[in-house]
Amino acid sequence: MAIRVTVLGCAGGFPGAGDACSGYLVEGGGTRIVLDLGPGVMANLQHHVDLADLDAVVLSHCHPDHWVDFTVLNTAFTYNLGRTEVPVYGTAETRERAEAVLGDLAPTWSWTDIADLDVIAIGGLEVSFSVTDHYVYTLAARVTDGDVAVGYSSDTGPDWSFAAFGAPIDLALCETTMRTDEEPDAVLHLSGRQAGAMCRAAGVGRLVITHLPPGADAAGHEAEAAEAFGHPVEVARTHAVFEI
Ligand SMILES: [Zn+2]
Ligand SMILES: [Zn+2]
Repeated sequence: MAIRVTVLGCAGGFPGAGDACSGYLVEGGGTRIVLDLGPGVMANLQHHVDLADLDAVVLSHCHPDHWVDFTVLNTAFTYNLGRTEVPVYGTAETRERAEAVLGDLAPTWSWTDIADLDVIAIGGLEVSFSVTDHYVYTLAARVTDGDVAVGYSSDTGPDWSFAAFGAPIDLALCETTMRTDEEPDAVLHLSGRQAGAMCRAAGVGRLVITHLPPGADAAGHEAEAAEAFGHPVEVARTHAVFEI
């Protein structure tokens, strides 16, 4: 078995020109889910999957760069595709903000509030959640098909680790929002050095750094993360595909 991850957007905070914020299409076990729906993700998603074939949505936290395109996916599902009871898993805060924009989420969506340590089955995939070290209640995710596993840090500071899942992570999508020399101000995000060190300590197999802000020196982030990880790392780019 295998899991394929397609980056639908990976900019931290706001999208640069022509780009998109956080969103990842995860396919495995015959199931297709999207992890986060930041601004721009809705457009990029349709390059990679027919919207009618999307099985579920997972939203990690209520910061706008991680969920606001849910509001327009709702438009397509409700008025254009007539989809109903589509599973969506998100934090209670994210649900409250979605309801403030959209009103009642039923019947298009079947929303489940998620919390730390929850484990859910979505078709052929199992998704576990772990609360991170961030400004609002934020859940990292581990997605497995029972054979291999992908980890997604969402947004976190240095007081969280992929080790919290207590299970192997073959491929980690880990945020690196800051450069190492910005660490004193990087209270609840990670630098490349911090991401690399954390993933090394957690025994991550392969590290992809993501959530770099627009205009960031990607090569600088990559070098700092690789030095701390002890192996080469990859930098997420929109439309990149990772298979494990
Ligand atoms: Zn973010
Ligand atoms: Zn955030």
